[in-house]
Amino acid sequence: MLVAEDLVKSFGVTRALDGASLRVFPGEVLALTGPSGSGKSTLLHCLSGVIAPDSGRVGYAGHDVVAMSDRHRSALRRSAFGFVFQFGQLVPELTCLENVALPLRLAGVRRATASARAAELLDRLEVADVADKRPGQASGGQGQRVAVARALITEPRVIFADEPTGALDSRNGERVMRLLIAAAKERGAAVVLVTHEAQIASFADREAVFRDGKVAGSAMAR
Ligand code: ADP
Ligand code: ADP
Repeated sequence: MLVAEDLVKSFGVTRALDGASLRVFPGEVLALTGPSGSGKSTLLHCLSGVIAPDSGRVGYAGHDVVAMSDRHRSALRRSAFGFVFQFGQLVPELTCLENVALPLRLAGVRRATASARAAELLDRLEVADVADKRPGQASGGQGQRVAVARALITEPRVIFADEPTGALDSRNGERVMRLLIAAAKERGAAVVLVTHEAQIASFADREAVFRDGKVAGSAMAR
């Protein structure tokens, strides 16, 4: 479903990606691991169309993500991709419910419908009690589950997560992983996550180990 072939990306003299190739399948949870600075985040950014590689190919469902117009790429990102970051990156001025409803509102869904769907998802993720609170009033674990809800509400085909559990204790980290795994298994979404925690990587179906800007090894985690 998502393919990276021979990606090269330099920042000045730093070669962040040096011939990275990868495939991700529907319903699969893929963990990108490896030392800091080995190119994991840069690959995630190339796969999700945030930055363009200097050379190489990124394909999503038959589309060439690098060659497509900016407008087409933004539309793809909005409709097919969901994003989760290390520190939720929720809008502090909005309530948790409004944060989760936001992607639907931006897609033109009516407020009542968007709010109802957001409330339902918060309930499923067991954070209904923070719906009317601002992110600053929720705990780290709650906030991150709200961030996952916001990423899932548009029912994306691919979920990109950059250290989604990095700021959480192991119990909350495991909880967030279970939500991402459920999205993959129940809806057939692909999940690509960057993590430096072996414990978190062990939940994935497959692990791609980065070294010096490329995938050095790929192992079945279980
Ligand atoms: P990882 O996610 O594995 O820690 P990154 O992809 O963040 O690795 O970074 C790979 C290399 O590229 C590092 O040396 C990093 O400093 C460099 N790098 C990443 N993004 C930028 C950028 N925007 N500008 C300059 N250097 C960057
Ligand atoms: P992460 O590894 O989680 O992406 P970082 O703190 O390494 O977090 O990077 C944060 C942002 O800064 C990213 O957008 C990354 O591309 C950029 N970045 C990383 N390394 C460098 C660098 N050496 N110079 C400039 N920007 C960088």
